[in-house]
Amino acid sequence: MTNILEVENLTKHFRSGVRGHPVRAVDGVTFSVTAGETFALVGESGCGKSTCARTIIRLYEPTAGRILLDGTDISHLGVRQLRPLRRNVQMVFQDPYASLNGRMTVRDIIAEPLRVHQPDLSPAETTEQIVDALAAVGLGREHLTRYAHEFSGGQRQRIGIARALVIRPRLVLCDEPISALDVSIQAQIVNLLRDLQDELGLTYLFIAHDLSMVHHVADTVAVMYLGQIVELGPTEMVYAAPLHPYAKGLLASVPKPDPAVDLMSRPPAIEGEIPSPIHPPSGCRFRTRCPVAMAICSTDEPVPVAVGDGRQVSCHLFK
Ligand code: SF4
Repeated sequence: MTNILEVENLTKHFRSGVRGHPVRAVDGVTFSVTAGETFALVGESGCGKSTCARTIIRLYEPTAGRILLDGTDISHLGVRQLRPLRRNVQMVFQDPYASLNGRMTVRDIIAEPLRVHQPDLSPAETTEQIVDALAAVGLGREHLTRYAHEFSGGQRQRIGIARALVIRPRLVLCDEPISALDVSIQAQIVNLLRDLQDELGLTYLFIAHDLSMVHHVADTVAVMYLGQIVELGPTEMVYAAPLHPYAKGLLASVPKPDPAVDLMSRPPAIEGEIPSPIHPPSGCRFRTRCPVAMAICSTDEPVPVAVGDGRQVSCHLFK
């Protein structure tokens, strides 16, 4: 199977203003995404998953590491060199209220990527492609001249998805695509994304903190903590038997269908706050919250170890 995206030791630090100490938002992340799969990056807020996605799509400049798209290193390409490659990668943003300009018509919003990537299209061809994209997300030609502020949250996210798909990308980065929506609408959008994946052969990189949704959609999951991946593997295996103490605590917080069984069997939640990415703990970054931390955990940083079945874990319990 071909990798559409490879991320090697990706690092993104921001200036913090605290005596020159950087904010280590993403710190040495490595993973690959196979064409046609759904790969999910999960973790608490502030774990670096959104920064990771935005660095991959080059909204942020990487501090170090490599991003390979279809084998081409795009880590440091300039805007011009990046443009033809960007056509293959689009993003669906978290907040459909903030990400769509309410004073633009639906036609103008969805036409934007076409203007950049297919500037030679005639107005009729542009309209045709926009109508096709709208139809794919369950909207119609009658919506073309309406303004984004006239739509509900779910409809706005459909417009955001149509904007991402109109230039027919191969890889779509979905940054918390349902978290700003009413619960009643969330399943509709998730099902729409799955249908579109089957229909168009899309590859998804999902950024999410909703672990139930990830279980439902992702083939592979990577659990992030304080800028690093601590566990990675096939979703079913990781959810059935997480290995890393943080992944265990995080996944234990997912409600089970039977609340009575859930309360009896649920391990204790992870205690304490996520530390500052400006001053991450020495050794293992999870050690200040880890219930099974050992002496070595404060001195030596664990490295990713392959544990079979395509799984890897970064923890001194696994050598
Ligand atoms: Fe816990 Fe140590 Fe493993 Fe970190 S390396 S998760 S502190 S046991």
